[in-house]
Amino acid sequence: MAVRAPSGNLKLVSRREAPDTLPMALPPDLHMHTPLCRHASGEPTDYARQALSVGLTEIGFSDHSPMRQDDFDNWRMRADQLDEYVEKVRRAQKDFPQLTIRLALEVDYLPGQEDWIRDLTARHPWDYLIGSVHYVSDSWAVDDPQKLSTWKNRDPWEVWSVYFDRLTRAADTGFFEIIGHADLPKKFGHKPARDCTPLYETFLTAAKKRNCALDVNTSGLRKECREIYPSRDLLQLAFQKQVPIAFGSDAHKPEEVGMNFAEAIQLARGVGYKTCCRFDGRKREMVGFEETSNIQ
Ligand code: ZN
Ligand code: FE
Ligand code: FE
Ligand code: ZN
Repeated sequence: MAVRAPSGNLKLVSRREAPDTLPMALPPDLHMHTPLCRHASGEPTDYARQALSVGLTEIGFSDHSPMRQDDFDNWRMRADQLDEYVEKVRRAQKDFPQLTIRLALEVDYLPGQEDWIRDLTARHPWDYLIGSVHYVSDSWAVDDPQKLSTWKNRDPWEVWSVYFDRLTRAADTGFFEIIGHADLPKKFGHKPARDCTPLYETFLTAAKKRNCALDVNTSGLRKECREIYPSRDLLQLAFQKQVPIAFGSDAHKPEEVGMNFAEAIQLARGVGYKTCCRFDGRKREMVGFEETSNIQ
């Protein structure tokens, strides 16, 4: 039985191998932020220390990528801070040689940004890139609490359709190893009354074609929707289509590293997954992950 510490974090008590893959204790936590994005706290070294204390062996930093225009919004690093970001992650790598620490970015996909994304991609030797859609128009990020009232005048189905169209296009660019929090518009509880399967199908077909993994992201449990991104329905369909997964806490503070991984593992196992992804220099490797029954 999975027993969680009060923090929601977990520790591994035993190790068992999945067939045909490298054994791994807990899955890598490949989604976390740094204070450079202006809405996270704690230095990468603090996240690394926390990772070790909850029994993780591998993490990856994926802070919000800069936009070409620094004044696009106020929740990301400036373009001239990209080197500083890389430096912070390198420092954590040096301070914690016993932990594998990957260098990545959570890149906002908006149609028309392809050249900028190519430019960013070439600037540093990223281990992987997470492609995320937050914006359904240039002025509205669906997960922005400051824009919550925008939802009042919108039909959820219409918003979800635009969102999934963009997510499909993000996957189709072939720029990204992982697609972030695939059903983000549910964050505040806005769900269409209609069946979303056709939206999921189109997106997952593109993800499969382009070898994108899905971010199994526990931050939804800390939001109004109280649900992991993506939902069980979406994840089940992803498993049927053999789209791989990568785990992420989307930590915006050190104590969130690895948070609720027992639930994430249980969800993934429940729909059939036994392996997840790790990345090194944009090359993917599949690793087995423990059943929650082996974790406390
Ligand atoms: Zn963020
Ligand atoms: Fe995000
Ligand atoms: Fe994130
Ligand atoms: Zn995110």
